[in-house]
Amino acid sequence: MRRSGGEFEALLDAAVDAIIVIGPGGLVEAFNAAAERLFGYRADEVAGRNVSMLMPEPYRSEHDAYVGDYHASGERKIIGIGREVSALRKDGEVIPIDLAVGEIKRPGHKSRFVGIIRDIRERKRFEEQLRQREEQLRLVFDNAPLATALYAPDGAILSANQAFCAMLGYSEEELREMSARDLIHPDHREGAARRMAAAFRGELQRYALAKRYLHKSGREVIGMLHAGIVHDSEGQPLLMVAQVEDRTRELRAEDEARQHRERLAHVGRISVMGEMAAGLAHELNQPLTAITNYSQAAGRMLAADGIDREELARALDKIGAQALRAGEVIRRLRTMVRKRDSQRATADINDLVREVIALTDGDARDNGIRVRLELTPALPSAPCDAVQVQQVLINLVRNAIDSLKGAKQKGTVTVRTLSGPVGGVEVQVADTGSGITPGDAERLFEPFFTTKDEGLGLGLSISRSIVEAHGGVFGHRPNRPRGSLFWFTLPDEEVTDGG
Ligand code: ADP
Repeated sequence: MRRSGGEFEALLDAAVDAIIVIGPGGLVEAFNAAAERLFGYRADEVAGRNVSMLMPEPYRSEHDAYVGDYHASGERKIIGIGREVSALRKDGEVIPIDLAVGEIKRPGHKSRFVGIIRDIRERKRFEEQLRQREEQLRLVFDNAPLATALYAPDGAILSANQAFCAMLGYSEEELREMSARDLIHPDHREGAARRMAAAFRGELQRYALAKRYLHKSGREVIGMLHAGIVHDSEGQPLLMVAQVEDRTRELRAEDEARQHRERLAHVGRISVMGEMAAGLAHELNQPLTAITNYSQAAGRMLAADGIDREELARALDKIGAQALRAGEVIRRLRTMVRKRDSQRATADINDLVREVIALTDGDARDNGIRVRLELTPALPSAPCDAVQVQQVLINLVRNAIDSLKGAKQKGTVTVRTLSGPVGGVEVQVADTGSGITPGDAERLFEPFFTTKDEGLGLGLSISRSIVEAHGGVFGHRPNRPRGSLFWFTLPDEEVTDGG
């Protein structure tokens, strides 16, 4: 066959694939140029030799038996079918090849076979690289510290990493049988489904929000979800990557800290009220005394001949007004002492100051202390918890009054409001009292630090934590020419605790 004409040989040599023709007994009859390049043999080195020389063990030894079997049974193992096998090069290298074998049948002749061989080293290398990359990605995915899951557009969970499994207590196999909605707290399911659908429709590219999940055990897990859509090469939404930061512990701690702060604040308020009892008694005493006086006067008018109805009506009006004033003092007290959760609303800081001064004024007056207000009108309104901010004000005003109580010279307390240095408002409470020694200044905010016989030592630490919970700053400095000045700011935008 090799000799059957130059044309056939030229045809074989022009082929890109390696071509080997095998005659009876498995002997090589033709070996084209591509085969020479692939195997590293010259055609004359293989011509007439058994083709098994091109196979690595164990195929080499088994080959004759294969061929024998085929001739005996007609059962095809490879003929007519393409297969990936190994080939042995002259230099001993074993390489992966794609082998297709065809049978050439001619009546009266024994079959010949033609093998068409393609070098698939490149492809294999590429596949191996892909496999390694995939494995790397999987390892990265699995070991990523952030809980990560992939969701299909219908919500089915395609994959979940170890951190995700650990966070919610399920194995990945269990999760693959579940859908995203099964993991979400019932209260959040509807919203979650809506957002996910919007994301897959392309209306939301990526989003982040705090979400409540359910652990397998039924306990709640609070997570910060970061979700994004992955698109295929045609831009169609393929899947959602959901990464969840477990914030349960922090949020619990924040919650506890908040409750703790509120409990302390409550205790603080009650103690302030206790200490202010004298001042409050005074505050209530005035309207009560006035009521007594007016009613006695009214009694006298009734007893006298010829009632002046107008004057009597005026007295009764005054009695009513004074009763309202007393009621107002009690209302303010009640709101201050009531135990309640923090509520933020926009408030006019000047109004808050005026209310606090109405409560503390009596105590100041009894001690001959002047209280001066320097309120800047039309300040930006600050979102705040009015009762808490009033509590800060009461603490500061009361401290200022206390600092002046022992003084020989009668002093002044000045409450000032101004717009804050970076928006919002600033409040200052200045006194001309004893001032603070540098040693005490360092310990002012320690809970239970007090220099007063009846002091609790909580006022300043509670005040600072209230201001900071509002996103503000709390500080103090010496007042000129004497005394001290405490100040705090409230930002104009609410700073939320947990994002
Ligand atoms: P308390 O008033 O119960 O002592 P605070 O935390 O409000 O608790 O204050 C702690 C201490 O800080 C006070 O005991 C006092 O020594 C000092 N202090 C606070 N405000 C002033 C002020 N305006 N002038 C002087 N000292 C002050």
